[in-house]
Amino acid sequence: MTTKEDWKPRTKLVHGGTRRSQYGELSEAIYLTQGFVYPDAETAESRFLESGPDEFIYARYGNPTVAMFEDRIAGLEGAEAAFATASGMAAVNGALFSQLKAGDHIVSAKALFGSCLYIVETLLPRFGVEVSFVDGADLAQWEAAIRDDTKLVFLETLSNPTLELVDLAAVAQLAHAKGAQVCVDNVFATPVFQRSFELGADQVIYSATKHIDGQGRCLGGVVLGTEAFIRGTLEPYLKHTGGAMSPFNAWVMLKGLETMDLRCRAQAESALRIAAALEGHGNVSRVLYPGLPSHPQFQLASRQMEKGGTVIAFEVADGQAAAFRVLNALQVVLISNNLGDAKSIATHPTTTTHQRLSDDARAHLGITPGMIRLSVGLEDVDDLVVDLLGALDRA
Ligand SMILES: *Cc1c(COP(=O)(O)O)cnc(C)c1O
Repeated sequence: MTTKEDWKPRTKLVHGGTRRSQYGELSEAIYLTQGFVYPDAETAESRFLESGPDEFIYARYGNPTVAMFEDRIAGLEGAEAAFATASGMAAVNGALFSQLKAGDHIVSAKALFGSCLYIVETLLPRFGVEVSFVDGADLAQWEAAIRDDTKLVFLETLSNPTLELVDLAAVAQLAHAKGAQVCVDNVFATPVFQRSFELGADQVIYSATKHIDGQGRCLGGVVLGTEAFIRGTLEPYLKHTGGAMSPFNAWVMLKGLETMDLRCRAQAESALRIAAALEGHGNVSRVLYPGLPSHPQFQLASRQMEKGGTVIAFEVADGQAAAFRVLNALQVVLISNNLGDAKSIATHPTTTTHQRLSDDARAHLGITPGMIRLSVGLEDVDDLVVDLLGALDRA
């Protein structure tokens, strides 16, 4: 007999967290309810005092379908607890604002998802939090920036869109030596390919909008961590500020988890083949994919991630006009800015996701006018290669 903790990841993703009603439904139920009814006044009183894992009060605090999603992802990650949120950004906002206060110092990698950068660079300082930025790939900068009074380090383990890695185990060691917590946005590396808690993270954040849904339907997010952090620090903040996940979205995410491992593996396998094909094309000046030996941190990537992930960045020679010609010539790959989707998606970071950065800031992050970010989907990889190479031929 194996216990739930011993299940392999794919089994956890299918069965973890399931709560069946008296009807014994096979597929998990959507409890589309805001409130809950108590059998008597004494029960209401005691539940407000303290509620058990299957006792609910109000959907902003918790809901059975949301709890199934939280338990399933927590089981996969080996985390003590999780709190699901309305979006990935509600998760980032909750994780940071719930544990920081005026006077605290944090260290953050510079290369962040645009909205994460807004929180860390603009909002936190407005509330008196001191932020030091470092080049995430440079361990010496982390070492110099983390101080005795540093409360937290924040990073994306694979950056968007240049797919630069942070050596999470090394940064966690530096942070823990100074008593700082490590908070990781693990969206690009995915819960399938990177075991962030085992590498030293204290808190892990996902935008469930990406690979967890994986089919472009709902927004969602989740924060994972210790029971003490999730219940004692994060939950009071999120349940009173309103970032809760909707039960319907939780159901979509719960069912998304069942196929996530298969999808991510198929997408990463296609991504590796596409990255290698792009690398051989005369109109491509550079390919960044952590699964390719040409990636500047290939050794670290092989150590830290099981596969190279589902996203590729490549640079079309001749800059923005040529990159636009490639995008406009694509017939299977869609122009959009989501990622982790079943549909392959290409985006031009300079003019969309990173449009608001200065030319200098973009150059510093390695985002060039010819760069295209490609999220590899579930289509037949042969069709994707033909589509991409054909568009490059015509550019
Ligand atoms: C998409 C994304 C987010 C934000 O998630 P939403 O669900 O869109 O709010 C945060 N971090 C990273 C790395 C992302 O890719």
